[in-house]
Amino acid sequence: VGAPAPRPAWTPAEGAARVRSLFARTFGPTPEEVGVWSAPGRVNVVGEHTDYNAGLCLPVALEHRTFVALRPRDDDRVRLASAQEPGVRELDLADVAPGTVDGWPAYVAGVAWALREAGHPVRGFDAVVDSCVPYGAGLSSSAAIECAFAVALDDVAGLGLADDDAGRATLAAACVRAENEIAGAPTGGMDQSASLRCTAGHALLLDCRPGLSPADAATGVPFDLAAAGLALLVIDTRAEHQLVDGQYADRRRTCEEAAAALGLPHLRALADDDPGALDVALDKLTDDVARRRVRHVVTEIGRVREVVALVDAGLAHEIGPLLDASHASLRDDYEVSCRELDLAVEAARDAGALGARMTGGGFGGSAIALVRAADASRVGAAVVAAFAAAGLTAPDLLLATPSGPAGRTA
Ligand code: ADP
Ligand code: MG
Repeated sequence: VGAPAPRPAWTPAEGAARVRSLFARTFGPTPEEVGVWSAPGRVNVVGEHTDYNAGLCLPVALEHRTFVALRPRDDDRVRLASAQEPGVRELDLADVAPGTVDGWPAYVAGVAWALREAGHPVRGFDAVVDSCVPYGAGLSSSAAIECAFAVALDDVAGLGLADDDAGRATLAAACVRAENEIAGAPTGGMDQSASLRCTAGHALLLDCRPGLSPADAATGVPFDLAAAGLALLVIDTRAEHQLVDGQYADRRRTCEEAAAALGLPHLRALADDDPGALDVALDKLTDDVARRRVRHVVTEIGRVREVVALVDAGLAHEIGPLLDASHASLRDDYEVSCRELDLAVEAARDAGALGARMTGGGFGGSAIALVRAADASRVGAAVVAAFAAAGLTAPDLLLATPSGPAGRTA
């Protein structure tokens, strides 16, 4: 079986040329006034469904980015076009509030709204978007579009927040508000922090406890896969399942209720206690579903610590069993996997992956497989063959190269 080529990332020049050309076609040829910014999608190495439990997670920024060409305006009008969506959308920033913006412009208007809510002098703009981050694949195209606009608006308004990591944490918080309150998706904060704060060659260890200083909440972990002879293969299953949003909100509510029943501010508190604390807590919970959800969250936080310890010791090639254990926990205890994700990780392991797991929220989206670099195309081909044999839509493949954060591109 021939190995399908992984989906390439656009170079910065290619992405900039695409959005400049789309801008000229949409709003007229004024390239000298039009800056270009971009932000990466992300893939989470380990630590799934932990961010909203004040836990730990370990994302890397992808080489795959969303590009924005933007021209500021002197009024509060916003005009938007996306290469991924039909038509031009218009709105007034003064009208933006929860529940008022339909569809994809909510991710954009939400960022401007959140910055204004925080007191920043953000005005209207004409802008276009194009992206090589796959949509709805668990690779956070939503954070990529938010964060690309966050750095663009920061730049044109002269806020200077993108200039240092603490300011980037502030921008990430605005993007989270945009996604939660204007786009209406109750996600945690991992994706936006990854897109704004990851650095090339590193994973980002995020500690999602509330109230930490930006420096304590995010730590770069050197993660040079190529130097270690490794590759992180991303398998976009292209599976779409119903009820995904409801399931996410449902998991989040179960965790919050379990923490409240245990008298804890959040489930993270159990992961910082002595190792017996989890068993004591599980004995106290009467509902079996809640017990399994709690067990996933607490053991997953432990796996993040173990992965980071191995990576820090130069033993990235030994994290495979922890990725496998993460998948089993998400499948059996958290119940967010699906047939396609299970098949992707099993086929990858059978073909020699060192470890594999679903990544992102689940119910479709992507899996990751840690492979020896020389095995990447063979493992990819085996997964594609397994999907064909099962009569499933062919998955998309890409390689996760730990890359740099959102910023000005041109
Ligand atoms: P994921 O973040 O995993 O890709 P989400 O459902 O969270 O999936 O976000 C996908 C949504 O984000 C899209 O349906 C769209 O509304 C918005 N979006 C992302 N990228 C773009 C883009 N390039 N142009 C327009 N909208 C986008
Ligand atoms: Mg998303």
